[in-house]
Amino acid sequence: MRLGALLALLIAGPLAGAVPTPKSHFGHEIGADRTVLDWSRVVSYFHELEKSSPRIKVQELGKTAEGRPLIAAIMAAPDTLSRLDRFIDIQKRLADPRLVPQAELESLIAQGKTVVLITCSIHSTELASTHTAVEFAYRLLTEDKPRFRAILENTIFILAPSINPDGVDIVTEWYRKTLDTPYEGTAPPQLYQKYVGHDNNRDWYIHSQPETRAIIGKLHNVWHPQIVYDVHQQQATASRIMAPPWLDPIEPNVDAILVQEMNLIGMGIATDLTAAGKTGVSVNSSYDFWTPSRHYQSFHGGLRILTESASARLASPVTIRREDLREDGLGYNARERTWNHIEPWAGGTWRLRDIIDYQLIAMESVLYQAAVRREDMLRNFFKVGQRQIERKTPYAFYIPARQADPGAAKKLIDTLVAGMVEVEIESDGGHTIRMSQPYSGYAKALLENQKYPDMRLYPGGPPKKPYDVTAHTLPLLMGVDVRTLASPSGPPRVVTALIEKPGHLPASDSDTWIAVNRIWKLGGAVWRDPNGDFAPSSLGSNWKQVPRPRIGLYKSFVPTMDEGWTRWLLEQFGFEYSSVGNRDILAGGLQRRFDVLVFPDQPATSIRSGFREGSMPPEYTGGLGPEGAAALKAFATAGGTLVFLNRSASYAIDQLGVKAKNVVSGVSDRDFYSPGSLLNVQLDRQHPLSYGLPADISIWSEGSPAWETEEKTVARYPDSRILASGWLLGEAAIAKRSALVDAKIGQGHAILFGMRPQYRAQSYLTFKLFFNALLYH
Ligand SMILES: [Zn+2]
Repeated sequence: MRLGALLALLIAGPLAGAVPTPKSHFGHEIGADRTVLDWSRVVSYFHELEKSSPRIKVQELGKTAEGRPLIAAIMAAPDTLSRLDRFIDIQKRLADPRLVPQAELESLIAQGKTVVLITCSIHSTELASTHTAVEFAYRLLTEDKPRFRAILENTIFILAPSINPDGVDIVTEWYRKTLDTPYEGTAPPQLYQKYVGHDNNRDWYIHSQPETRAIIGKLHNVWHPQIVYDVHQQQATASRIMAPPWLDPIEPNVDAILVQEMNLIGMGIATDLTAAGKTGVSVNSSYDFWTPSRHYQSFHGGLRILTESASARLASPVTIRREDLREDGLGYNARERTWNHIEPWAGGTWRLRDIIDYQLIAMESVLYQAAVRREDMLRNFFKVGQRQIERKTPYAFYIPARQADPGAAKKLIDTLVAGMVEVEIESDGGHTIRMSQPYSGYAKALLENQKYPDMRLYPGGPPKKPYDVTAHTLPLLMGVDVRTLASPSGPPRVVTALIEKPGHLPASDSDTWIAVNRIWKLGGAVWRDPNGDFAPSSLGSNWKQVPRPRIGLYKSFVPTMDEGWTRWLLEQFGFEYSSVGNRDILAGGLQRRFDVLVFPDQPATSIRSGFREGSMPPEYTGGLGPEGAAALKAFATAGGTLVFLNRSASYAIDQLGVKAKNVVSGVSDRDFYSPGSLLNVQLDRQHPLSYGLPADISIWSEGSPAWETEEKTVARYPDSRILASGWLLGEAAIAKRSALVDAKIGQGHAILFGMRPQYRAQSYLTFKLFFNALLYH
């Protein structure tokens, strides 16, 4: 090198050697046994990388539920990084074919880069990917090899080292606390995201949590990534890593081009892993591709790539014999050689570092394929948008202005708009969602009823379990009147405006009411109208103030996502509550502190017994036991209200003597199966729990109980046509049975919900049943 060039380089700044190694920053090799990371150190490492390399920019996307910074690192060739606005513009145009004249298309494709977003450790006990992110970023920025050069030149790589930073620290603190104890490697006895725990990747259309909103608002909706690779872990005894193709069924609104590309990239990952000598790689296994609650991008023109690596015990190694590997993986057997699991893992010790080694290969593979296929990927991305715009059936969805629950209608519209759906306001105050728009498939998926295919493990056999749930019909969940318009017939519609962003609709009375229709929260007071059935603009003569209920929400040491969702709901709708643990209940005298106690969806045995002795540190073991049941009985007898959601209802039957029999308890899947479906019930509208609801509603059932009972029935399944959306086997088993029971205990009540009325921040219709239960005393 000429002296001048060398000098210029030195002055221009960092040579690769100046980039700090992970070891120098964290004090240990990445993935060393029994080492975990602190989020603040991960963030400071990425800032160090940014200071020392011209190929990375770090962006803070917002704060988490607990106030930690959520970050993304953008990596590319320096020339690309200096012009990110230009590439954002190209992506925006390719995402919406209406903005691109045919003559410009090829030039945009020639200039564009494949945008790849890799998101790590949304599930915090699946901790390896944050470690992998640190090491991969370092290598990409410092190792000069042809594949990395191709990646930097042809892609824009956005890396979110964790999309649940709170959970990184929760798991790290717990791991260190239990290190060298019998509990080393256990999962923490708390949710690893403040409200929703593991359900944080069931939030990708309702966007209830700040982390989801930041990732969607600052990354997806700005960058329109062609690929989003979400890095997860599975059980220790599963295959070593799993990649797409996905299992059936594929949600019908996901474009076929995207499915083919996911198959392609997934097989590319598997090929690269096998070529690198890694065994135990499975494809077309474990997961279907149905619910949009797990992902956003495949309804927005991008691929969702997922890998699931076998876990260790957090950062502690495990030893697994070949005969310990699971035989019953969906679509494969972890001990057997099949086309989709061609080289089984032989067994042995499995450690954090192994997981990282596999993930490093997978990340490089995704990015390299994105680089090599840059042109095709951009052209196909554009084509997917074109096919959305050309959608003819139906013509549109129409949301009439007059709704029984205007607040829910506004929420539904905001939900669509947050997902970049174009919603037009018409002169009659109604709203139209035409299908000739780039994300029509997304809108359609969320507005239509799902018909989940009847899939069996073998002909006539038990159902093939969906990975998650089978229904996502917002109009049913929210109780909003949405009509399907088959064609543009009828009087011409007059569009007055296009909704630009969520919250566009004017704040109205509907924002202030809680158990919409008949219960309002106003100036800190709760008002109830026993007769009216539509929102008044001011409180009329019927309205009377009711005392604010003193609410206790049961919180077990066994972390329960439904408990978190319930907390979220109570806070969103302005209810005050206290969390109530085993000790509070065992102390007795509950009637002096509470009017109502809520038990979220949780198995009765775990309420009664909690973690068994020896499985967790002693201060976290045990449940309510017989003394707790006696205290609850005394509370109800003295006039308190006990509310049991879904599975917890069996606690009321077993422990408190409520006279009801769950007719589907012990019934095989073949004879009754409702894996996250919307089912029709009829309400007793005279009963106070039904205030503000229509007679016929849909409820959320996930293997939910249905009762034969002598107690008062408030919601009852019809005798037929029970399925509203999703999948249901054996409707005869629950026909005419109770789905909501009001049982008298002394002066008080036990209310048994055979549903999750507050399902994942979505079921605005049945929120009202739940709120009514809180005020029922
Ligand atoms: Zn996961």
